[in-house]
Amino acid sequence: NKTWILKKRPVGDVGEGDLDLVESPVRDLNDGEVCLRTIYLSLDPTNRIWMSDREQYMPPVQIGDPMRGGGISVVEESRFDGLKAGDIVNTGLGQWSLYQVKPGAEVNKLPELPGVPLTAFMGPIGMTGMTAYFGLMDIGKPKPGETVVVSAAAGAVGSMVGQIAKIQGCRVVGIAGSDDKCKWLTETAGFDAAINYKKEDVGAALDRHCPNGIDINFENVGGEIMDTILMRLNDFARMPLCGLISSYNATEPVPGPYNFSMLLMRHVTLKGFIVTDYSERFPEGMQAMAGWLMEGKLKFETDVVEGLENAPSSLDRLFTGKNLGKLVVQVSEP
Ligand code: NDP
Repeated sequence: NKTWILKKRPVGDVGEGDLDLVESPVRDLNDGEVCLRTIYLSLDPTNRIWMSDREQYMPPVQIGDPMRGGGISVVEESRFDGLKAGDIVNTGLGQWSLYQVKPGAEVNKLPELPGVPLTAFMGPIGMTGMTAYFGLMDIGKPKPGETVVVSAAAGAVGSMVGQIAKIQGCRVVGIAGSDDKCKWLTETAGFDAAINYKKEDVGAALDRHCPNGIDINFENVGGEIMDTILMRLNDFARMPLCGLISSYNATEPVPGPYNFSMLLMRHVTLKGFIVTDYSERFPEGMQAMAGWLMEGKLKFETDVVEGLENAPSSLDRLFTGKNLGKLVVQVSEP
């Protein structure tokens, strides 16, 4: 087997030597266990959080332990009644490895949806899709005619947020880091407008594209972009706080938000959430997202990197913005 082990806690960007690729035999199965071979490893901004020892929503990965991650696997061998060799499953909370042994009860067999590629189970109908769906629908509570602004808009979560908001009849403005991403947002994903924050004055662009102010800010980034949005929120705006990616590589405490007082002045509801808060309602979210996907109402992209050996060096794509849509590593063939 091949497994990435966390060797030391990265300072700033993840660098060479922070993780080690270790080879070892795969152990024999006990009753109730399955051996999985990873097909796709999902790379997520939260991987960077788990590598650090900052305060977080679950225990960090310990030094010397396998790096934690999800994805899609195939059952190689099974001693669990509900699964057989060849079944394709959601890995759940697994490892950055080629093979892994897990209790069969912790992995779910994926349904077969005609015409839907496997990668959709990490995008629209996977964790990032559930994050977008429940964050927007449950916390954002979109109403037709309202204006929604989403940051990291061309990423896995953001691209779904905007499209779900369009389905709900909202005006949708995305913020992203390149002209190509902005073009994809407006021409393919159906956003009403997109702002390239690396080139444009975000405040002036928001004023232009949100003439009636902002009712929902789906926050993925934090920092200056969030501060600029805060100044433009309407009374009783809602703010699902999904992520703060601009600070995950920070080596010093991050100051701000400077316009925090706007939460008071505009009677704003801000709620931080973790997608697993909604795990009991995932069937509802999957059904809605799968339905829209099969009706052609959700467009999605997958950024595929080849080879487990490239996992740590590819995580950076999320922080430099090289990815369009969901970033995954293809570890083996189905
Ligand atoms: P994405 O596919 O959106 O990739 C991250 C994107 O963030 C990059 O493509 C980049 O796009 C943008 N970005 C990176 N650094 C910055 C920066 N400094 N300023 C502005 N934009 C930046 O990843 P995900 O969709 O997986 O995650 C998006 C957010 O959602 C993250 O904050 C993540 O932590 C959060 N999340 C939260 C979950 C929860 O349960 N609460 C679950 C899943 C994700 P660009 O080119 O536009 O800069």
